[in-house]
Amino acid sequence: MTGIKRHFENVTVLGTGVLGSQIAYQTAYSGFPVTAWDISDERLDTAKNSLEQLAAIYEQEVDGAAGGPARAALARIDYTTDLAEAARYADLVIECVTEKLALKREVYVQLGRVAPQGTIFASNSSMLLPSELADSTGRPDRFLAMHFANQIWKHNTAEIMGHAGTDPDIYQAVVGFARQIGMEPIEVHKEQRGYVLNSLLTPWMDAAEYLLMDGVAEPATIDKTWRIASGMPQGPCEVMDMIGLATIYNVNTVSGNEKSRAAGAWLKQHYIDQGKLGRTSGEGFYKYTDQRATGEAG
Ligand code: NAD
Repeated sequence: MTGIKRHFENVTVLGTGVLGSQIAYQTAYSGFPVTAWDISDERLDTAKNSLEQLAAIYEQEVDGAAGGPARAALARIDYTTDLAEAARYADLVIECVTEKLALKREVYVQLGRVAPQGTIFASNSSMLLPSELADSTGRPDRFLAMHFANQIWKHNTAEIMGHAGTDPDIYQAVVGFARQIGMEPIEVHKEQRGYVLNSLLTPWMDAAEYLLMDGVAEPATIDKTWRIASGMPQGPCEVMDMIGLATIYNVNTVSGNEKSRAAGAWLKQHYIDQGKLGRTSGEGFYKYTDQRATGEAG
């Protein structure tokens, strides 16, 4: 592996929103110095609060985190709005900015200009392919996707997907890094929108939306059928409420499948436009008083 560091010393995370803050924290918790970058001081202040909250969650939910380790992780994170400063010592930059192709490409153009030649870039994009971003990085051989799941401390997959020009040694170095921060690396052998997880999950949720949209069955009936007959703990409507119906709608709208886009429009009209966004809003397909569904259709 010539010229490629096997062990990354410094990691930078671009974007400190939902996933960026989790990735920054998990990386710091695993012992790496982390630089968190965002576009404004206000965003970084919000990030500091999110990271404090994450430390508290780890103390409660992660074995061994209480009594020091969770707090120590916070001390390993630096914050900046200066991209050049963020990238200066980075062996790996994990990009977690808003899921918009043009925006991500612009960030990579800026980053490619200021980052050291050897720095590897990884995108946490959910739906974009690395080949759609690679040329904007100025270093396509050192670029790939590493996709984390929400609530990284318990849903610890890192789906790793290169494009045709990704250096295989870079790919393996990133696989090794994923392991070092406690992730289960999922090696995706070729480009696939949605990686492994969403390639499985999306058609399942789409199918439930079609049953609803076509008036075939109610949410509770669909979920009951799935739970009893498959032995799985949750049905698709419960899962969609947990993910959030706005996210489901966004996935529908970028789908290449016409019926999925129609289901998105149906979901918007019957749920989203009425403020029924899933668990976080207290109502989606079900009503929620606390963290439990009342069993009543929303
Ligand atoms: P988010 O909206 O919580 O955070 C987006 C971040 O991008 C913020 O830090 C924001 O300040 C930054 N940003 C906004 N405008 C910017 C600009 N012009 N230039 C640079 N940065 C800008 O989003 P998120 O949910 O954390 O998603 C970030 C990435 O992670 C997306 O690619 C998304 O697909 C992916 N992802 C999200 C989830 C999830 O469950 N939320 C799961 C896996 C992957």
